[in-house]
Amino acid sequence: MFNILQKTFNTGIVTTAYPRTPVEVPANFRGRPSFDFEKWTDARAAAEVCPTAAIALHDSPDARKVTVDYGLCVFCGLCAEASSDQAVRITREFELAATDRGNLVLTAEYTLNADGTHRQLRKVHRGLRSIDAGVEDAGKAARMKIQQLLGRSLAIREVDAGSCNGCELEIIALNNPVYDIERFGIHFVASPRHADMLLATGPVTRNMELALLKTYRAMPEPKVVVAAGACGISGGIFGENYASLGGVDKVVPVDVYIPGCPPRPQALLHGILLAVGRLRERSFDKHVG
Ligand code: SF4
Repeated sequence: MFNILQKTFNTGIVTTAYPRTPVEVPANFRGRPSFDFEKWTDARAAAEVCPTAAIALHDSPDARKVTVDYGLCVFCGLCAEASSDQAVRITREFELAATDRGNLVLTAEYTLNADGTHRQLRKVHRGLRSIDAGVEDAGKAARMKIQQLLGRSLAIREVDAGSCNGCELEIIALNNPVYDIERFGIHFVASPRHADMLLATGPVTRNMELALLKTYRAMPEPKVVVAAGACGISGGIFGENYASLGGVDKVVPVDVYIPGCPPRPQALLHGILLAVGRLRERSFDKHVG
């Protein structure tokens, strides 16, 4: 007993200060790929190797529209390896949660040379620009907001709608002493009837469709839904097929999307705190509605 206490005192506090202070991720961590559209001379190689068609090309004889969808991206890094012009690189950015699915999509339009390489960038739309409205503030104020809104802790019901369990491993880490989600007054519950937030993962297999829907319907108002991971957003590597529906929003309305494969615990925390903000809006709407 004394040894355990001594070890605890020697270890000290291990809980991360995120989001109050920025987090250091490992040097080899793969975050979102970033695209330098001005520098990009040819998107074909990257699109060809992308396993989830997150990079899609729409070619006409002398023009090309390139679409990059972070909701489909599994952060594999193949596009960066395939781009000889160094226009694509893997960053260590992970705070990508968005309240609008469209914010995860970037587009660029080019005129083309005869050999299919890019001649000139005509137009670019950087959806990610509007992501992340002050999550640090959200983190600081989350506990207070939750108390004000609910008068108690925020309860999350997690549903694995056919995931590989990669996302679940990261979600479980939210409860460990390092990430300690309970410091915000947020905890996981077993019953949807006690839940304010539905956190769903997986491409939504057809076998899990009804379970997901019933869970959502069993939750009291106000409630928010968070889709975690590439599969939860778009079906990811599985996409839409005979066995999977291709994302949580095919079944229930989603308030926050958290990209990643899987999203690391801080990325989940970032998205959950954004969703707390949505709960506030919903609650307010309900009040004045
Ligand atoms: S990092 Fe994303 S965009 Fe690039 S190849 Fe992999 S899945 Fe496609």
